[in-house]
Amino acid sequence: MIAKTRHIKDTKKLIGSLPAVRYVDPKYIYLATTNARCSSFELYIKEGDHVNCCQLIGMRHGPFFDQPIHATCSGTFVGYEKHYHRNGKLIDFIKIENDFKDTFDKSCFKRSPEEIAKLSKDEITEIVKNCALVGLGGSSFPTYVKFQTDKKIDVILINAIECEPYITADHRLMLEFPNRVIDGIKYAMQAFDCKKAYICIKSKYKDIKTVYKQLLKEYPDSGIELCCVGNYYPQGWEVEMIRKATGIKLNPGELPSNRGIIDFNVSTIVGLYKAIKYNMPVVKRFVTVTGDGINFPKNFRVRVGTSIKDLIPLCEGYKNPDKEKVFILGGPMMGASVPSDDCIITKTVTSIIIFDKMEFKEEPCVRCGSCVLSCPVHLEPVQIMNAVKVADKERIKKLNPLKCIECGLCAYSCTSKIQVTDYIRKAKIFAKL
Ligand code: SF4
Ligand code: SF4
Repeated sequence: MIAKTRHIKDTKKLIGSLPAVRYVDPKYIYLATTNARCSSFELYIKEGDHVNCCQLIGMRHGPFFDQPIHATCSGTFVGYEKHYHRNGKLIDFIKIENDFKDTFDKSCFKRSPEEIAKLSKDEITEIVKNCALVGLGGSSFPTYVKFQTDKKIDVILINAIECEPYITADHRLMLEFPNRVIDGIKYAMQAFDCKKAYICIKSKYKDIKTVYKQLLKEYPDSGIELCCVGNYYPQGWEVEMIRKATGIKLNPGELPSNRGIIDFNVSTIVGLYKAIKYNMPVVKRFVTVTGDGINFPKNFRVRVGTSIKDLIPLCEGYKNPDKEKVFILGGPMMGASVPSDDCIITKTVTSIIIFDKMEFKEEPCVRCGSCVLSCPVHLEPVQIMNAVKVADKERIKKLNPLKCIECGLCAYSCTSKIQVTDYIRKAKIFAKL
């Protein structure tokens, strides 16, 4: 019974075809004080202070870089409150009571096309840094660091593949703001003096193809093209996307910029558009609320800092409310579990997926090999698991678990319902000892 599992259940079709619901005026917004990359912070405001939308109100500090904290509505700083972050931890959030006036900070202003055309790469990098733009597909890696490469960039890839099942937030962004996508790509091309950009989508996204083929006719000399890639998971993994779009196979651990390539998630590109055009940080984003545990799954466009609890009633509440739920922030394959819906949409939350909790029993490994055949980086998950069970560090190191991208396919494909990926995560810890 061998199953090479690269095609996984896809439930996207219906909600991806409906417009996102605008929910942009919550009573409170909550901004994370810390995150996985920055473990301390300082605040520039005190309780009772009025803040403007986009105002710089604090700074997160990390070992490699700092992250500015911007208010995402105008209102009053009323204190701190604990909620779950997308990393699954309960942390302090800065609570701002919305005054519903949307008073923008004076740091926001509109740049004319002529002003934008004169911006150098260093100036664009500085704007991106000050606007605290990060990888909005979930990586949260600071975008300005990518812009600092001194390598010659020949091709920019825009990752709009959204290959995990259930999530359609980028799909709606692509359809609802196509001009912002194109302008964002043009600004990135200007920064890198790059003449070629590919927007990578799954080949089955007919609606996106129709919109962009038409739109790109207005930009015949832009160098921007659609690139239809595979419909399988993990097609959105950087290495696989680059291989499919350009034919270039990166060596393990090699940076794409070594081969003249740089890639951005499509939400990040729209964030770049806002930063360059309006000097604005990310204030709103698309997010998918879905899963079998909710009555009417939907896409939303919300303010960063919105509580997930606000969105549940807008989906007509929970299906089977008496049943215990499982909450996943991000995709079902690579996302993080949180214990409740008491979590906040940060810049990098693409989705929350809610399932009724199901009890399942792991069976003994039957050595079927499905996990090995499914692994996109050609590891032997079952062997790693067995080595972890007996804590054989030398064997673990030889099996190279640090190559694992935590795609979750080994657990998904396991015929015995073993959480193989959890063993690989443990193996990574052993391998680093
Ligand atoms: S989680 Fe890691 S080991 Fe498992 S299939 Fe994905 S890359 Fe391979
Ligand atoms: S761990 Fe699961 S998928 Fe892998 S060989 Fe064993 S039973 Fe098969």
